Amino acid sequence: MMNLMDLLHDSGSRGKVLLSDGAWGTLLHARGLKPGECPELWNIEQRSKVLEVARSYVEAGSNMIETNSFGGNRFKLQHFGLDERVGELNRAAAEISREACGNNALVLGSVGPSGKILMTGEVTAKELYDAFREQVIALAEGGAHAIIIETMSDLEEASLAIRAVKDHTDLDVICTMTFDKTRDGNFRTMMGISPADMVPVLLKAGASVLGSNCGNGTEGMISVLKEIREADPEVPVLIQGNAGVPEYIDGRTVFNETPELTASYIPDLVKEGVNIIGGCCGTTPEHIARICSELKNLAKK
Ligand SMILES: [Zn+2]
Repeated sequence: MMNLMDLLHDSGSRGKVLLSDGAWGTLLHARGLKPGECPELWNIEQRSKVLEVARSYVEAGSNMIETNSFGGNRFKLQHFGLDERVGELNRAAAEISREACGNNALVLGSVGPSGKILMTGEVTAKELYDAFREQVIALAEGGAHAIIIETMSDLEEASLAIRAVKDHTDLDVICTMTFDKTRDGNFRTMMGISPADMVPVLLKAGASVLGSNCGNGTEGMISVLKEIREADPEVPVLIQGNAGVPEYIDGRTVFNETPELTASYIPDLVKEGVNIIGGCCGTTPEHIARICSELKNLAKK
C-alpha cells in the first residue's frame, strides 16, 4: 500500500479524484451508541460494531477511511473520565480501520478540536500541543497512514496539531476547517477565518493537504473550494460536506441531503479542482457509493 502523497500524485497524473468516507457518528448511533456516551470507548467495548462501520465505507468504494477517534484528545476524553486512556483508545481506533482496509484503502487518523479556546486563556499553547502529540503518536502506533485534523475553526490550534504530527511522526497531514456562510455571503470559521486566510498558515505549519469539512451541505463547498484554489492552484484539496443544512426536529439533528443530491454537486467540485471527496455529518455509505459511481461516470467522459 502506498502512502497518501504517492497515491495523490499517482491519481492526479491520471486525472482521477480520490474518495474518502462519510460520517461515523450516525452509524454508531444506529448500532446503539447512546447520546452522551463516549464514541471512542467503543473501540474497546464494541469493537466489532466500529469495525462494521469502517468496513461499510471500504465496501462503498472509499480509497481512504478515517478512524473512530475524532474526540480522542485528553480534553474531550476527560468529560468521560477517560483522559488516562488516550493511548489505548487511539491505538485501537487506528488498528480497527487498518483491519477494515486491508490492502485496499488508506487509514486517516482522525483528530478533532480540543474543545478548549486558546484566546480565552483556558488552555495554553503548550498544553494543546502536548494533547495533540499524545493522540497522534498513538494513532501512528496503531497504524494510521496519515493524519486528518478536521472541523477546525482556530488557525493557531490547527497549526499546533499539525506541528505535533510533523514533530513526532513521519505521517503526512491533511487539515480541514469548517466554514459557515455569513450574512454578507462570505465563508468564515467560528473564529472569523476565511478559506484564503487558512491556506498559507496551514501550509507553513506543515500540512500537505488542505480543505473543508462539515458546514452546511455540499453545494456551499463549491465556493469554499474556489476560494482555496484562488489562494493556491496546486495544493491538494479534500472536501467533506455535511448531508445538507442540519435541522433540529424533536431534539434530534436531521440531515436531508440525499445521496442523489450530494452526487449532483460532484461535477462542479471536480471542475473546480478537488482532489479528494467524502462526506461529513449525516452522510452514509449510500452517499459514498453514489459519489463513487458519479466519479466513475465523470472519468469516462
Ligand atoms: Zn460534520
